[in-house]
Amino acid sequence: MASGAFPTPSARPWCLAVTDATTSFGDPTTAPFWTAAARRELVVQRCPFCGAFQHYPRPFCLSCDAAELEWVPVGGGATVYAATTVHLRVDPALEPPYVVAVVELDEGPRLTTNIVGGHAPIGARVRLTWRDRDGAPPLPVFTPELAS
Ligand code: ZN
Repeated sequence: MASGAFPTPSARPWCLAVTDATTSFGDPTTAPFWTAAARRELVVQRCPFCGAFQHYPRPFCLSCDAAELEWVPVGGGATVYAATTVHLRVDPALEPPYVVAVVELDEGPRLTTNIVGGHAPIGARVRLTWRDRDGAPPLPVFTPELAS
């Protein structure tokens, strides 16, 4: 591939990070996610043509390339797909140690998040809760699901 042949991020805006409301709340692709988060509702995109769910938000369907997607609430249940404990302070808002995890929502998409309120190893069931932030919508985080 010739140098410069790969599109730059500015030519592919959907490649930009979409993980923080402070930088992406006004982005039309991600704004519905943050608007729902502000009312403590976790939503993901679903394709009205092929039915595929996806997260993180994109302007097209990963399964069939449809350019129209709908936003649907998820049930809040998930399974821990990967997790690691962070022992170094990298964010003033997060007191180490804390757990960064990828959870697989029951609807299918995976979400990078934190595990709070207990230990949840890979494969454990977790449930949605929210971490409040000053001046920004709350973040969806997950807590171990209590055995019944
Ligand atoms: Zn589709």
